[in-house]
Order: sequence, then structure tokens, then C-alpha cells
Amino acid sequence: MQKKKGIAILGSTGSIGTQALQVVEAYPKYFDLQVLTANRNADLLIEQAIKHKPNTVVIVDEQKYKKVKDALWDQDIHVYSGQESLNQVVEAEEIDVVLTAMVGYAGLKPTLSAIRAKKNIALANKETLVVAGELITKEAYANGVNIYPVDSEHSAIFQCLAGEFQNKIEKIYLTASGGPFLGYTREQLKGVTKEQALKHPNWSMGNKITIDSASLMNKGLEVIEAKWLFHLEPHQIDIIVHPQSIIHSIVQFEDGSMKSQMGLPDMKLPIQYAFTYPDRLKTSFPRFNFMDYPELTFEKPDKTAFPNLQLAFNALERGGTAACTLNAANEIAVQAFLEDRISFLDISRINSETMDRAEFTSSLSIDACVLADKDAREIANTLI
Ligand code: NAD
Ligand code: MG
Repeated sequence: MQKKKGIAILGSTGSIGTQALQVVEAYPKYFDLQVLTANRNADLLIEQAIKHKPNTVVIVDEQKYKKVKDALWDQDIHVYSGQESLNQVVEAEEIDVVLTAMVGYAGLKPTLSAIRAKKNIALANKETLVVAGELITKEAYANGVNIYPVDSEHSAIFQCLAGEFQNKIEKIYLTASGGPFLGYTREQLKGVTKEQALKHPNWSMGNKITIDSASLMNKGLEVIEAKWLFHLEPHQIDIIVHPQSIIHSIVQFEDGSMKSQMGLPDMKLPIQYAFTYPDRLKTSFPRFNFMDYPELTFEKPDKTAFPNLQLAFNALERGGTAACTLNAANEIAVQAFLEDRISFLDISRINSETMDRAEFTSSLSIDACVLADKDAREIANTLI
């Protein structure tokens, strides 16, 4: 029998992390769970550890260490704490694939450590490719590591490319649901609330990405993510709003042929494909029924009402630390919006003004990323 795949899930208590655990649980013959990590949610991490019996858990928040350690005293599980532990636990020999399902810039260093330890990456944490795509893809190449996309649009592109890797991509279309404010004018966006922004029509996700979806920043981040995953130029990436979220994205080849990947919106499928590529495992997920969707519709994104999308294209054109700056500003702005400290339209304002004010470095290194991230956070905080 084939050796089981050793899986590490960074961010196991989140939306992607919990769905990944369902995938792992469904195929005990294929997967061997090695590592679970969480930032602060000790209760859920403990519950997951007792149920799924990984080798190791990390609770990043050091104040929660004792609670987790005590709760797991009679289990044969190593318990660690602190940000640095994340970088270390991914190196364990038994791990084959590291799922990066933590949110934000915090994903950068653990992802880099996993790549340097020659682990394949199932990448949900898009922010890592946004802030340091050039470095990450270089490191992956140098270490002979594959990066399997988990983001549904990028998984769709990746699935369309199976068997086509020698064929040039003319362009890709990333589909966007448009989020809860599709069709809103800037005037209408002025008064929207956090509660409205957190109600995504098609997907249930963590708070940060749900706000990013409402502001179209998520699609902007995905444009940058796609550039690095598929080696594209900005003009080869187009966005099409498709409110039903059935077509997950489209590749157009040089002969004009287009391939798309379709299905009901369910992140378990891209997570599972990232774990099992190039194989597909039989699932019992609900199947798509054409009669339930007599109309699939498409429209242009509104870059005036949602300036974040244009900001992402600008950052991509600029290169260097520009995308890192944009990401950091956005993390600060989204957090402030979630804490009711700013309005919805302030998010793109803060992003734009931070981009204008921040120092820019054209050659990217980890040090340059760290500095750009810190600088942008400071500027964004003054703009709140
Ligand atoms: P979430 O907020 O639900 O979960 C985040 C997880 O990361 C939690 O386990 C949390 O404990 C951990 N975490 C948070 N901050 C951390 C830190 N500083 N250090 C270490 N761990 C930390 O988020 P999510 O919706 O699951 O999204 C995770 C990532 O996947 C994001 O990058 C998101 O953009 C991407 N993604 C999510 C979806 C989705 O459907 N949820 C789809 C595509 C991509
Ligand atoms: Mg996506």
C-alpha cells in the first residue's frame, strides 16, 4: 500500500482549517495527521487534538499554553507555544504537505520554513504570495517543492491546466461573486455596516477574507496570487463577476480555447485536490444540478465603487514591496473596520493613501518585506 501522506494544518481552528480536518477524517487510509496549530482558540484546538490525535499541536498565544498542555496531559501529543514554534514544527520528517490556513502576513515565515524543509505546500494563505510571491516561488523552485493552490479560483485554474503544462496560457479569468454589495454605488456604500459586510452570499469564511470579499480586496489579492502561481503578466489576468459562484475560474489558451472548472461552492474540494493531486478521491459532496441554475450570469467589476481592485493591479505593475505595503495597510484597515473604528469606504481610502505615502523598494528580500510591512502598518494606523 502507498505510504500515507503526513499532513500539517496551520490554522486548524479557522474556516479552512476545520474543513481540512473533515477531509483528512474522511480518508484515514490516505492521510496521517501530524500537526495542528491555532492562534488563540485553545478550546477548539484541544477538542481537535483529542479527536484527531496529531503528533504535535501549537497554540501561538503563549498565555494559553498551560491550558492546552494541561488538557492534553494524558495524550501522546507534543504541545508548543509561540510564533517561532510554527516555523519549527513544519520541519518534522513525517510531514509531506503543509496546509497554510492561517490568516494574513503571519503566514509568511512558517510557509518559508516549510518550503526550506522541502515540504509541499497546500496554499490557502494567499497573503504570503501577495507580500513575497517572487521570493516564495524562487525558494519553492530551488527546494523542489510544489505549491498547490487551495483558493477556489486558483485551484480551478490549476485543475484546468492538468495535462496542459507545456501549453502557453493566453490569459485567465478569475471569477468573483461580487460579494454582498454587488451593484452598490459609492453613495450606497457610505452607510454599509459590518454586519452587512460579514454576510457573504455564497461562502462562509473567516472574518478577514469575508470583509476582503465585500471590498473586492480579496479579488485584488487573488490577482497577485495568480501572477505568482501561474507566472503571468498583469495584462493576462482579467476579473469577471459571476454572482452564482459556479464557474470557479477560466483559462484561455493560445488557440483561443477556454477551459473552466465548475461545481457547487465548497472549499473541501479544492482543499482535498491540493492534498491528493494529481489523483481525485471519490466524495459524497452534493452534486451540481443544471436545472437549479438555469442562468449563469457575468458582468464587469466596478472599479470605481471598489477601488481596491485597481490598487492591487497598480501594486502588481509596480512590483518590489508595493504589494506588501498594500497587504499590510489592508490588514490594519480591515481590523479597524471590524472594531467599528472606521467606515467601509475608509478601507480603500487607507489602502490608497498608505500606498502613496509608504517607502518603496524595487528589489524584494525578506528584510525588505518585513520593513515594508512594518512601515505600512504604522502609516495606516495614522490614517484611521
Ligand atoms: P479564519 O480566520 O477562519 O482562520 C484563521 C486561522 O489562522 C485560525 O486557526 C487562527 O487561529 C489562525 N491564526 C490567526 N492569526 C494567526 C497568527 N497571527 N499566527 C498563527 N495563526 C493564526 O480564516 P480562514 O477564512 O480559514 O482563512 C485562512 C486563509 O485562507 C486566509 O489567508 C484566507 O484568505 C484563505 N482562504 C480562505 C477561504 C475560505 O473559504 N475561508 C477561501 C480561500 C482562501
Ligand atoms: Mg478565492
